[in-house]
Formats: sequence, structure tokens, C-alpha cells
Amino acid sequence: MSYATWLYPTSISQAFLPLFSRSLTLRATFSSFRPLSHHARVFLPAKPPNSQFVGVLAMAKRSASFEREDFASPADMYFEPPLKIVEYPDPRLRAKNKPINTFDDNLKKLIDEMFNVMYKTDGIGISAPQVGINIHLMVFNPTGERGEGEELVFINPRVIKYSKNMTLFSEGCLSFPGIYADVERPLSIKIDARDITGSKFTVNLSGLPSRVFQHEFDHLQGVLFFERMTEEVLERISAELEALEKKYEDGTGLPSPEKIGARKRRKVAVGFGRS
Ligand SMILES: [Zn+2]
Repeated sequence: MSYATWLYPTSISQAFLPLFSRSLTLRATFSSFRPLSHHARVFLPAKPPNSQFVGVLAMAKRSASFEREDFASPADMYFEPPLKIVEYPDPRLRAKNKPINTFDDNLKKLIDEMFNVMYKTDGIGISAPQVGINIHLMVFNPTGERGEGEELVFINPRVIKYSKNMTLFSEGCLSFPGIYADVERPLSIKIDARDITGSKFTVNLSGLPSRVFQHEFDHLQGVLFFERMTEEVLERISAELEALEKKYEDGTGLPSPEKIGARKRRKVAVGFGRS
């Protein structure tokens, strides 16, 4: 996710701005984390959710499917630094991402490199498919500054509950440079994931961390943020999306694998908790 997003809140979302205050949000939300290393966190028992949550019907199915799925192989996790950001409409943003069951030095190096490219490109969050690695991994630091705030790592994350309360906010994405637009999402979520050592943890997220997590979680499902925009908002940015499609075609000599002008909206709008 792109850092500049948070500098340009929309008029509607300005009402929520105090919730995104850096220090307040981080202190309130991540006080239950403590550092294990500079990029790993151990979760201490979660507080009960402080807002009403809605169950996600898809979760049972999703849990079961994880067990049946192929885990990422060493070849799937192979990379060479420095990592480069994959931009829309590169098909790696739509490829299936595999869960991780190997928690080794290669994974730690990949996480380090993901933070490196995230800071370098002024991001506040990034998912593995955005650097061309199709695995269930995301990292973020809502401050966007190395050495400040918390560096968070989520491996094989799952959303357990979403709040009924929705919020609108202007998002950006490192895979869509220069494009910012309103996206509506649940205000709070409860998630579980594995940390860098493979230990499972559960946490409630709200405010900016909830927003960043949900954006990156979509990437792990092959969902891109423009699919969650209203038709009106999408229309406003369609020329910029087409410019990225042309850039891809000019750079690769290949036809764009998807075209905003021709597509029908994918049915992600049926709700959150898509598995
Ligand atoms: Zn993104």
C-alpha cells in the first residue's frame, strides 16, 4: 500500500482521520505485540473485540482448503534482490498464492528485502505477489518509516471476523503508482496468521493497520483495490488504469492480460471473507 494515501484523505473520510493518527493507532492496536527480532512479533493474548463483529461464513471452508493445498516450494520462494515492484496489469498480481510451511533463513531474507523495497518506494505495506513471489506473505509498517513504529509480518493470514461498521478512505497501491481513490472496507477485523518463526497468533486490528491489512490481504487473494471501488470512482481512474495497461504492453511487447475498458466487474463485491 502506498504511503501518500494517508496524506490525502477524502472529505468523507476526514471524519475518521483521528482514528488514523499514527501514534494513537499504533499504541492502541499493537500494544499487545512485543519484538522478537526487528521484523517478528509475538502476540500476547488478544483482548476481546471492542466492537461488534460479524462471522465470516467462508472461513471454515478456507481453513480446510489450506490443508489440502500445496505449500510453497523452494522454487516458489526463490528470489534475487533487489526486489522490484510488479505493476498492474502484470499477471503475477492475479496468480494463485501458495501458503508457507517453511520458516527458514530464506524466508527471513525475503521479508527483509520486502521491507527494503517498501521503504524505498514510500510504501506502508506490501504483499509478496507485488514483488513477483506468489506466496501468502505480507509485511507492513503504518508509519512508513524505517526505525519508527512497528514492522509487522503476517504469514498465511486469515480474517476471522469483520466489523459491521464500514469506513471510506482514499487508498493507493505500489502496483498502481500515482493512483489514489476511495475504497470502502470494514473498520475493524480479527485475524489470525503465523509469525516469522511459524507460531500462530490472533489479533484485532482497527484504524490504519486494519485498512492496510485488508488491502494487502486482498492481494493474497488476487483481488486488486479498484475492484472494491464504486462504478463512479472506477470511471474516474479508468484512464490511469489504461495508461498502465499501455505501459505494460510497450514494456513487454505482450498484450495486456486484462483491460479495464473491457472487463465486467469481478464479483468481489458480494462481501468480505471471500476465500
Ligand atoms: Zn496494493
